[in-house]
Parts: sequence; C-alpha cells; structure tokens
Amino acid sequence: MPKIKESRLSTRSRKERTSIPYARGFHLPTRKRCLEALAGKHEQELDKEYDSTGDFFQSIPKPSSIDDWLAQYNETGQTYQQFLDECPWLSKRKLKYVRHTFNSTGTTLQEKYPEGKIYLLPLGEFDGETTPRFSDLAEYARLFYDVPVEILPPVKLVVTGDKVVWEDTLDAKELTRNPRASRSSTRTTHYQLLSRFDSKTGHYQLQINSVLYKLRQIIPNDSICVMALTMSELYDESTDLFVAGMAAGNQRVGAFSFSRYNPTLNFSYEFWYKVYREDVKMSTTEQRRVMLQRSCKLLVHEIAHLLGVDHCIWYSCCMNGSGHLKEDFEQSMHLCPVDLRKLQTLCGFNMVERYEGLMRFYRAHGLSEEEEWVRNRLQFITKS
Ligand SMILES: [Zn+2]
Ligand SMILES: [Zn+2]
Repeated sequence: MPKIKESRLSTRSRKERTSIPYARGFHLPTRKRCLEALAGKHEQELDKEYDSTGDFFQSIPKPSSIDDWLAQYNETGQTYQQFLDECPWLSKRKLKYVRHTFNSTGTTLQEKYPEGKIYLLPLGEFDGETTPRFSDLAEYARLFYDVPVEILPPVKLVVTGDKVVWEDTLDAKELTRNPRASRSSTRTTHYQLLSRFDSKTGHYQLQINSVLYKLRQIIPNDSICVMALTMSELYDESTDLFVAGMAAGNQRVGAFSFSRYNPTLNFSYEFWYKVYREDVKMSTTEQRRVMLQRSCKLLVHEIAHLLGVDHCIWYSCCMNGSGHLKEDFEQSMHLCPVDLRKLQTLCGFNMVERYEGLMRFYRAHGLSEEEEWVRNRLQFITKS
C-alpha cells in the first residue's frame, strides 16, 4: 500500500467550460464492467445486499471542473476480486511490523487479528463550538466497520512564536503494555513538529510527514491503524495551499485535518495563510452538523484506504477520490455495492445490523438525507 495523499485543492473560480474531459485514458465503466467488478466473471447470483438496481447507486458524475479528480487521474478502479488478492489484511501471512496475535486460519480481520483496534488520536484542540466531538467520530467508525475503535489520550499542540510542539503526557506503546500506566506515571514528552508560520495572520500549518513520523513512534502494539485527527492545518510541499491529510498504508498511520470543513469559512487559492469567514447565516447547530458529516465521511474513507480499499470508479460512493473541497462535499456518505462487499468480507459485519446502527447515528445527529437513504436501503434488502 503506497502513501495516499489527499490534496483537496481550494476550488478555483475559473470560467466553467461546457465539457471537461476525463483524464487521458480514463473510460467510465459500463454497467457490465461494474457488475463484473462486484461479482467476478463466474459468480452467478449475489445476495440482495449487493443488488445495484433501483436508484440507490448513481454512476460517478462527469467532471465539471478541470480540478476534479477524474479530470486529473486515469484511475483503473479496484474490483472485488483484486481486493481479495491484494489486501494485506486478508493475507495468510502476518502483516509486517504488526505485534499482536495473528491467526492464519481466520477469514476476517478480527479473526486474523483478534486484538486489533483502530485508534483515533486527538491532535490539538477539539473543543470549538462547531468542532465534531471525538466520541461521535469514534462511534461512527465503529458502526461503519464493526471493528473496535479507541480514542488515545489527546496530544497538545503548544504554539510558541513560530514553533509548534507536540506535547503528550503518555507513551501509547506503554499504555498497551501496561494499561494502568496512565495513572501511575505521567511522563510528558516534547517534540517539535516541522511547520510554517505567517506572522501577519498568525496562521500556521503542520508539515504532514513530521506528524506521521511522530505517529509511527507511538503506534500502540495492538493497533490496526492510528489516525491522528486535527483542527490545525496540514501541508506537504511548500507549494501546497494545504493538504487534507495523508495515510501511509504500510506503516498503518494517517493524519487528517478537518480545519477546512467549516461551512462558514472560505480560502484563498493563492496564499495558504489566507482564510476568510463568510457572512453565512447558519446556526451553530447547523454548522456542527455539516462539520460532523464531512469529518465522518473523510474518516471512514481514510480508514478504508488503510484497510486496502482503493478509490472507487464504479458508482457514486464514499470511496470516490476528490480533487478539491467542493467535490469532496458533494460526495456520497454511502458505500457502493463493490466496496461494501470488500469491507463486509474483510470485517465480517452483519449487513442489517450495520445499516440499523448507521441509521440511528444519522437520526441522532440530524443527518436526515443519509438516514432516509439507509432506511430505504434496509427496506429494499429485507423485503423478500
Ligand atoms: Zn482517498
Ligand atoms: Zn465504491
């Protein structure tokens, strides 16, 4: 699994052209190819859960901007069979660097790695009025994958002058060796992150690789992956306006920023440090709802990458790539049948229970469109 960088450029206000071509070489898959991607050539009939008839799954929209994902990349797509062949978590051999129990005869992720957990790490402050709650993010990931999800002790980002220091009071590795370590020994460690700072605006961004480097050092022994989530901004190369984040598959770490998900903010496409608050009439509750929706979608998309799922070209799906924020915001929260089947095989969840859990979550957080989609889908797959 290579490094997956999620750029999410700011949308440029270019004149819309009538027709934006796909990236050279890309062909939108036909319905026949989509069905083959789902089933393989020799499978005759699939469960109702993977039925793509009706209007549940649209094809991915044609590019409407030259910054759109499919206008930039010639993606070939990953079929269900390719996933089975390639996914390191389904291999009969233990994954390199993993230090928890491995059972080669198991068929799902949890049978193979019974101690495995997904860890979420709060990197910096998460107490804003519209900031998503960490417990909600963890619950969503748990419902989406039916894999244990735990929240690591938060890491403080101490900003002094133009420097940003990672300050944690607990070594996560130590925590897995000795769960009581948090009470008996509080050891504070400091690590200066690479960052850039604009003195006029006071705006800073963290260099993504320096965050990933630090994460690799604290990855708990029983982790499937560690996802650092932050409201601070990230960049990779000096020419980047910002990056949404990066996942390093073979190292099981990822770091992602929700900073640009606030619906009342707008961003310069020339200068990384220019952020504008727009005069949008939107209640705090509504802002938080939008933030949660966008953040949940990013989180499960990135975890899927770390679990071996590539970008999806088969349908409109939460595994579609996105070239910029607007494209990201418009994408579906749901998995298409091809990616649902990959993750069901890997995680072994019960399809009906998963949808019921997600429906409750969407209802509790006012995500009514998503709730309705899941309710209809549940009705469709359970009716005989
Ligand atoms: Zn992606
Ligand atoms: Zn998909």
